[in-house]
Amino acid sequence: RLETRDLVRRFDGKAVVDHVSLSILPGNVTCLLGPSGCGKSTTLRMIAGVEQQDAGEIYVDGRLVCDTVTRVPPEKRSVGLMFQDFALFPHLSVADNVAFGLKGPKAARRKRAGELLERVGLSHHFDGYPHQLSGGEQQRVALARAIAPKPKVMLMDEPFSGLDNRLRDGIRDDTLDLLKEEGTGVLLVTHEPEEAMRMADEIALMRDGRIVQLGAPYNIYNSPADKAAVAFFSDVN
Ligand code: ATP
Ligand code: MG
Repeated sequence: RLETRDLVRRFDGKAVVDHVSLSILPGNVTCLLGPSGCGKSTTLRMIAGVEQQDAGEIYVDGRLVCDTVTRVPPEKRSVGLMFQDFALFPHLSVADNVAFGLKGPKAARRKRAGELLERVGLSHHFDGYPHQLSGGEQQRVALARAIAPKPKVMLMDEPFSGLDNRLRDGIRDDTLDLLKEEGTGVLLVTHEPEEAMRMADEIALMRDGRIVQLGAPYNIYNSPADKAAVAFFSDVN
């Protein structure tokens, strides 16, 4: 379970993330939905620990990982991160890419890598190298790598937007199924209402750094908080 309380990030005196409080349950998908520049990526980066907040707290399973005094480093937060530019290590084999963040004996790490590669349908590329894979295959390897250390929460910043439409739906659905199976909570950033409607257990609608509405997809769709929310959803049918 991930919780943020009143996260704030300012640039040049302006709050680009303004008192954002979110809660993500195990196995649930929360979509952070909002227009370009509203503060989605900044929010994720603070949770991941690659950017420091100016105020507020972050908890993972009840443990404080970050406030203005405490600062648990990114790799110790039990939080995984997937971006659009997922960049595999080109000099490592597919299996070694997946095993990269794991600890323990080599045999155990390779076993876990093998299981995950099987789960994403890429066992046959176990000893292959990234340049031998298609973009979609590389993305699945990146997914396996992100999941391998069993993060409690997965942060996804439009990781599927680089893929063509047909491929994208399949990979996205598989990814979220896999995360659900593992009991991982997901915070998925998107600026497409349709995607949020389809994938989310809960939608957090963000504008100008603030969460303006939070709720189940159909509640938000049926009773948008204000005119801007109506406009934002108007292209979903
Ligand atoms: P998009 O959908 O385009 O990715 P976003 O919602 O992810 O947008 P952010 O990247 O979080 O938006 O940026 C929010 C605001 O903060 C933007 O106005 C951006 O210009 C500003 N911003 C982000 N990082 C910095 C920085 N390092 N210095 C100054 N301003 C920044
Ligand atoms: Mg962004």
